[in-house]
Amino acid sequence: MSNPKTALVISAHAADFVWRCGGAIALHQKLGYEVTVACLSFGERGESARLWKEGKSLDEVKAIRRKESENAAVALDVHDIQFLDLGDYPLDLGEEAQARVVDIIRAVQPRFMLSHSQYDPYNTDHMRTTEFVLTCRMIAQAWGHNPGEKVLGAPQLYLFEPHQTEQMGWKPDTFLDITEVWDKKRAAIECMEGQHHLWDFYTNVAENRGNHFRRNSGGQAGGRAAKYAEGFQSVFPRTVDEL
Ligand SMILES: [Zn+2]
Repeated sequence: MSNPKTALVISAHAADFVWRCGGAIALHQKLGYEVTVACLSFGERGESARLWKEGKSLDEVKAIRRKESENAAVALDVHDIQFLDLGDYPLDLGEEAQARVVDIIRAVQPRFMLSHSQYDPYNTDHMRTTEFVLTCRMIAQAWGHNPGEKVLGAPQLYLFEPHQTEQMGWKPDTFLDITEVWDKKRAAIECMEGQHHLWDFYTNVAENRGNHFRRNSGGQAGGRAAKYAEGFQSVFPRTVDEL
């Protein structure tokens, strides 16, 4: 198939894409998109507390986290998942990482991209990832970068919902109804064995965003009966013919 519809998720740590946009991934796969997930790290040091408490080594933690993420990707029908192994807490987002991510963006040619909130004082890996993604997006658009390659258009960057939402300056302007793929998202969530404490938390988030969806799609009485949704904040304006 030529020119498939594509999307690219850039996740700081191995599990972020599951909690924050697993529904969007599964839904767009169902809509005929090819969704690629790039995990910058495994979250091996900062988001794997249970495995460290069990006495696992660094290599074991990384292997387990990788397997969990691969299983989650299967549950979500992800087209392709790539692990860049840049280390976490903190991520190494130097020039080499930048060149690799620009190459991925150009190869995928996403119609839209997904990444973290622009502010996250609890986890600077997340907010540094977003700044990094914007830089890589900009480089991928430059005709003078690796001339001869296909340059990137102007895909929207959607910021998915962070943890501790109210502290992040994150303000959703888009709600996506993920009810029809909720079972896939929950199955992906349950692949994250090391983070049991988040399973019901992110189910509650999806239910709350479902309420927002209903409220904004026609009010309490006439809204679409969305049971689960995800919220996103778009970085760039949308260009439209009608309002
Ligand atoms: Zn994370």
